[in-house]
Order: sequence, then C-alpha cells, then structure tokens
Amino acid sequence: MTPGKELLFVALGGSGEIGMNVNLYGCDGKWLMVDCGITFGDASYPGVDVILPDLQFIEERLDDLLGIVLTHGHEDHIGALPYLASELGVPLYATPFTAGLIHGKLEEEGNADRIELNVVKEDGPFDIGPFRITYTPLAHSIPEGNAVLIETPYGRIFHTGDWKLDEAPALGGASTAQELTAIGDKGVLALVCDSTNVFNPQASGSEIDVRKGLDEVVAGIKGRVLVTTFASNAARLQTLGEVAQDCGRQLCVAGRSLDRIIRVAKATGYLRNFPETIDFDTAMSLPPSQVMIIATGGQGEPRAALNRIAEDTHVLKVHKGDTVLFSSRQIPGNEIAIGRIMNILAGKGVEIITDRQAFIHVSGHPGRPELSEMYKWIRPEILIPVHGEVRHMHEQARFGLSEGVPQAINQVNGDIWKLAPGKPEKVGDAPVGRLVLDGDVILPADGATINERRRVALYGQISVAVAVQKGRLIGDPQIRLQGVPVEEDRDNFIADACDAAEQAVQKESSRDLEKLREAIRLSVRRVAVRYTGKKPVVDVLIIEA
Ligand SMILES: [Zn+2]
Ligand SMILES: [Zn+2]
Repeated sequence: MTPGKELLFVALGGSGEIGMNVNLYGCDGKWLMVDCGITFGDASYPGVDVILPDLQFIEERLDDLLGIVLTHGHEDHIGALPYLASELGVPLYATPFTAGLIHGKLEEEGNADRIELNVVKEDGPFDIGPFRITYTPLAHSIPEGNAVLIETPYGRIFHTGDWKLDEAPALGGASTAQELTAIGDKGVLALVCDSTNVFNPQASGSEIDVRKGLDEVVAGIKGRVLVTTFASNAARLQTLGEVAQDCGRQLCVAGRSLDRIIRVAKATGYLRNFPETIDFDTAMSLPPSQVMIIATGGQGEPRAALNRIAEDTHVLKVHKGDTVLFSSRQIPGNEIAIGRIMNILAGKGVEIITDRQAFIHVSGHPGRPELSEMYKWIRPEILIPVHGEVRHMHEQARFGLSEGVPQAINQVNGDIWKLAPGKPEKVGDAPVGRLVLDGDVILPADGATINERRRVALYGQISVAVAVQKGRLIGDPQIRLQGVPVEEDRDNFIADACDAAEQAVQKESSRDLEKLREAIRLSVRRVAVRYTGKKPVVDVLIIEA
C-alpha cells in the first residue's frame, strides 16, 4: 500500500483506545506520522509499565516515511519516541516545550544524538515533502498544545491533537475564534478530532476558575496542605504557585517528574513567576499553616511521592489536621490504586478533597459545547473522531452529524481510509497491535513471554527435576514450588509429588524422554489438583546420566 495521487489516513494507535496515539497521512507516495505515544500497563500485563504501538505497517515502508510531527508533550503522544524513533530514523518536529521534553527522554534512553529533533519556533508553515504543516496553538492541560493544519494537493486536514477552549489559560496563548474561522474559510476536507470528553454535556471550564476554587479551599485550611496533580500540567503548577502566595504558604515540590517539568518549563520561558521552593526538611520544620506541598502520584502510582508520603517512607509527612487535595481527574482504571492511598490517608485523620467537593480541577479535553464551536469554525466536509474508545468516537460521529457536519467516519486502528479524491472510503487494513516494554526488551503484548508470566502469576509453578539412566531413576526427584497454595501442607505435598514423579518414571516403559516428561508432568499435576484444586504450571527437567 503506497499512497498514489490521493490522501490516505490510517491510525496505528489511539483510535478505539485512549492512549498510544499514532496517526499516518499518506499522499503522492509518501507518509507523514502525527504523534507516537505509549499507554501504561495494568494488571493484565504483569511486570510491565509501558505499552507501545506496533508500527510494523510503517516499518515496512520506512523509505516513504518523511517525518513525525508531535502535537504536544503528553506521554500518549510522545512516549514511544525513546524506544521507536531511532529505528524509524526520520526527523521529528515539535514546538520548544514539547521538544524539551522529548530531548530529555531521548537523552535518558541514550539516543538523543542519533535522532534529528527539529524545534519549530516560527508561526508560519513549513513543508515536509507534499505536506505543508502549520502548528496552530490550542489550550490543553500542558503548555503548547497544538493542532496541526496539514495542507496537501488533495485537501486540507485540521488535526486537533488534544484540546479545550479556555478564555483565560494560566500559561500560553491559544488560537482565537477568528483565527480558527479563517482556517475554515479556506476550506477543510477533514477535521480529525479529540473524542475523550464527548459525553461531557458541559464545557471543560477555565484554569482561572480553578485558581478561585483552590484559593477558597486553601484559605480555609489550618494544617499542612498537600496538592497532587499531573506533573505535566504546568498551568496548574503556575496556579498552585499563585495560590501558595495568595495564602501565605511556602511551596515545596516532591517528585522527579515535577522537577523535570519545572526545569523544561523554565528553560522554554514558562513559570517565570513560580515561587522559590523550600526543601523537605524546611517544609517539615515550618508551622503546618505556612506550607503547601505539590506532590506527584495522584493516580495512585506506588513509587510516586504521594504514596510514599502516605506510607510514611518519605521525609515529608502528613498528619491529622492536614489536607490532601486531588487537583486532577481519576483516569479510568486507576480508581482502586487511588482509593487505596485515600484510605491510608483517611486512616491517619487527613482530610481529602477532590474535584467532587470543590472546583479544584478542569479537564484538558473538549466537552460538547466546545466540539460544537470547533465544528462551526472549521466547517469540515468530513469529521474523523480519534483519541477515544469506540464508544467515544461513535458518539462524536453522531454528535458531529447532528451539528451539521456533512459526513463522519467511524474508523479504528488499522483501517486505511482514502479521504480524497472522490467519496471517502475504506481501502485496506494495516496490521496493528500492542508491544510491551519489559525491562529493556520490546515484546508482543500477548506473545509467549507475557502469556507464560500470566499463567505463572495466576496458577503458580512446580519445578520437577529427575535424573534417569537407561529409563531408571537415579536418586530422588527434586521439587521446588513457586506460588502454589500449600502453606502448612508444603512438606507433605512435596513428598507426595516426589512419589508421583517416581511412579511415573517406573510406569513409563518407553525410553522416549518426551513421553516420560509428559507422564511426570501429568502425575505431579494430579497431586496439585488433589491438594489445592488448582492446576499449576509443571515444569519437568530430565537429566540423563
Ligand atoms: Zn494531551
Ligand atoms: Zn492525549
């Protein structure tokens, strides 16, 4: 599939799931990638933190890939670059703050000098082969959220990236209604648009109202205040710095990702008025009413500062009379981990305030009134919902049609769509899937390794070693258990399993080692079923003397 005299669109990630956004546009024999993100592991991927998109489709066409344009610096848009960009071997394009974050990640992975990273500072358009690119700033929960206007010989695409409308964002500017209308005036073939909050009947709200909400809440607190938020939300950090000053509290910052964001933000011209921070010991020695702590870990991450503070393994402590504010949204899937930390804090007598009790958070994604505005300004011929689960994307398609957009495309990862010339139609399927970063190794997410690990995690493992000579056992079988639920019966269980293995060797008349292995495996597993009602993985090692 090489794009001809046509405009193609393919999502390799982020359509049908929230996370790991990767979008491809193709025309005149060339491909352009927009974003290259990750998603995070959950209990179904034991031992895995990072999940990557499978880019096989474009890896087979690397000669035709011209570059990767990054919309903004969230992990679901740039997170895969440290692991996949050097193999793709194409230039990256990003605005300064986003580029600062990418550069830090590439350096950490040790491949910054092998990857061309272009920092786009100018407002004007630049060309990547047949694609003319113009970054168009939109408000979002990170500095430099950008839509990308992509002009091709077959039509213009407005790819929104993640966005919201905010009349008074704390940091950075956003395109005005007039500027967006001017883009629409020139004709837009397709609006490729964020679906995350399509079920929200209200607009997302402004950062300035968060400031008011936080001011009110913090003014009423006598003890220590700890606020957790997304580290990358530099506008919120700015707001929190102002709230601390408004309320006469000194600011202390806990968490590596916060340090990193503050460093990159200051280096690219943001957080200029952020107050001087105090260290952990000073924060603990001051009267609680004079301290505000900003900490990472509001999604329940076990290694982040908030969890360590809750579990008393951090220099910073919280006690009865202190208050923890969750100035963030619970990401679906994290509720249990967050609830766990909240329960530890509540058990200490710490008060907890979330965005349900007070106006201390606004979303970075558009609710329906904002989507409706965008449709009116851009007036696309086709709406392509992305950045959502299937239910979000289908809902946005319905909503767009009801708001007067002439056509909407329901697509998922791997669908190859021809957008022009002629009627839009699906013209093929690209292979898609997930990879996991396991230690330093990249593997298929549902391949042999992860399946083995799931089986061992779910059922436990029994290792049986036997030495045989001419079909007869030498010495006693050796047995080791991992995660088999026998506890006090352990010794009896091992003795019975040894007997079963011995009998299996005696009964098995053939000298075929494979048959012998299977006979031992089945007889030991029968013992496990009798003792535990479970079928552990039985691993048999035969040493032939
Ligand atoms: Zn984002
Ligand atoms: Zn996103």
